[in-house]
Amino acid sequence: MIEIKHLAKTFSNHEIFSDINLTVNTGEILAIIGPSGSGKSTLLRCLNLLEQPDQGEVTIGDSHFTAPHISKKQAVKIRQESTMVFQQFNLFRQKTAWQNVAENLVTVKKIAKTAAKERALVELDKVGLSEYANFYPGQLSGGQKQRVAIARSLATDSKILLLDEPTSALDSELVGEVLTTLKSVVEEHPDYTVILVSHELEFVKEVATQVIFFEDGQIVESGQPKDVLSHPQETQTQRFLSRFT
Ligand code: ADP
Ligand code: MG
Repeated sequence: MIEIKHLAKTFSNHEIFSDINLTVNTGEILAIIGPSGSGKSTLLRCLNLLEQPDQGEVTIGDSHFTAPHISKKQAVKIRQESTMVFQQFNLFRQKTAWQNVAENLVTVKKIAKTAAKERALVELDKVGLSEYANFYPGQLSGGQKQRVAIARSLATDSKILLLDEPTSALDSELVGEVLTTLKSVVEEHPDYTVILVSHELEFVKEVATQVIFFEDGQIVESGQPKDVLSHPQETQTQRFLSRFT
């Protein structure tokens, strides 16, 4: 479902990663853990071309590109294959919750506004926010904002979710509601393929099928959550995980 070969990205002359190779099968939930600044967000952003990779091949669902020569058509197609949930929610401040969820349906999928609104309300209900459909982001808590962003992702009908530290911007008392929402999303959609960057290790243990420890643009260690998180083999992984105990 997701295949990454020899992916490389450099910002000016700062090499972020030079040879990432990764396969995520349909229905798998790959969790990526690793220190801040190691290139996790850049990796996810390269997958939907929010960043332009320098080299490498990516296949997502039925779409494919080989960097750096990516046609507009390929870019449009690859962006439609996945949907991303960001650390900072990325909601339109001047749009209500339902308008945020409906935005992509109206502008990209060309769905009529009434139908898009109906769909948005269905998705907001799934994340427990029916009563907040007409609220603006400024009137919502961080946890509610992130649940709106999750509803927006669900509305795209994409079966590939890229979740970039979805709870790390939240006050600790708001983390639980977002993790509960995400857990029910993946439980209800076993066909979703997910890459999740998160340091909520208990959550990762519960939902992930595969874990990668990522440091300085390298996959240091990978395997099942119970192995990587409970019995890490590499000293770098051990050092990183010791911060959480
Ligand atoms: P992580 O998500 O693991 O914290 P990032 O992918 O955000 O790491 O960042 C990896 C490195 O790339 C950092 O040193 C960061 O400063 C740098 N970086 C990220 N985005 C940009 C950008 N748009 N321009 C220049 N440098 C960037
Ligand atoms: Mg990041």
